[in-house]
Amino acid sequence: RSDEALLQINALRSGYGRIEALHGVSMEVNRGEIVALVGSNGAGKTTLLRAVSGVQPVSGGAIVFDGHDVTNAQPHARVKRGIAQVPEGRQIFSPLSIEDNLRLGAYLRKGSEIDRDLDMVYDLFPVLKERRRNPAGGLSGGQQQMLAIGRALMSGPKLLLLDEPSMGLAPILVDQVFQIVEKLRDESGVTVFLVEQNAFAALSIADRGYVIETGEISISGTGRELLDDERVREAYLGV
Ligand code: ATP
Repeated sequence: RSDEALLQINALRSGYGRIEALHGVSMEVNRGEIVALVGSNGAGKTTLLRAVSGVQPVSGGAIVFDGHDVTNAQPHARVKRGIAQVPEGRQIFSPLSIEDNLRLGAYLRKGSEIDRDLDMVYDLFPVLKERRRNPAGGLSGGQQQMLAIGRALMSGPKLLLLDEPSMGLAPILVDQVFQIVEKLRDESGVTVFLVEQNAFAALSIADRGYVIETGEISISGTGRELLDDERVREAYLGV
């Protein structure tokens, strides 16, 4: 039901100069859900995610978050409302310590909640705690993905946006990262919207999913329905 949606995207249009990349996308993310957006290279996944976090301009339609129209809000205003993006390629600060990277995620907040959330992140990722004084650049790819997720959690988000969390990771680490995303939903009550080319991994943990093809949503359903869908199986699961 739309009145329960945490994030509502209506007929969204966006592009690059005269080239339109999203041709009126509508979808929603309800509270407490993991929603996966899957699609091939260049389908518009990153553009949509960046439009939600506010770093990609939109030319039509609306984005409503937690009851507020944020279509034209500045990125930092969206962070304050509770939207946190984990960017593709992670973008951690290599020379800084792991703990300083995490604290940077809380730059818009103050007070004791920050230390509480730091403990929460360390509980979730013990390896980050062990190595908290070390430069972040020394972490492996999977650990850097965990740090990027931890940093986003430090802003105290209601909605976590994940751009290709599996990118560049060995299969065993992909499983680990997706298990952590499930744990986040189950234990921290964070709502997750993730975009992925790894459709199988994403749909396996998603409550609901959408398929995007050349800037338009073509199929939607529960994660299970999409995994069983003939069209999805042929085009995205290679079966
Ligand atoms: P990928 O998995 O490769 O990131 P994607 O589904 O995220 O793919 P987008 O990156 O959102 O796709 O790209 C959507 C469309 O917009 C593509 O046709 C792409 O070529 C185009 N596009 C993306 N970024 C730019 C840019 N900076 N300038 C011009 N066109 C762009």
